[in-house]
Amino acid sequence: TYVVTEACIRCKYMDCVEVCPVDCFYEGENMLVINPNECIDCGVCEPECPAEAILPDTEAGLEKWLEINSTYSAEWPNL
Ligand code: SF4
Repeated sequence: TYVVTEACIRCKYMDCVEVCPVDCFYEGENMLVINPNECIDCGVCEPECPAEAILPDTEAGLEKWLEINSTYSAEWPNL
């Protein structure tokens, strides 16, 4: 799965949401998140993010962000 990280906070761009083929972005409290159960790992959103906030969860040290993406996507509206 791909994970939205800290650089997304208060970012105003929604380009990632528009390109996602499975609509797995959710609103979150002050950032967008990706539902890890719905992401098909296509990678299309990563280069669209102007803040470079979207990373593959294979990168080291993203456990906290994966948890946040998982929790927020269960509690906040789909975009
Ligand atoms: Fe959507 Fe693909 Fe990004 Fe996953 S990697 S959030 S499926 S655009």
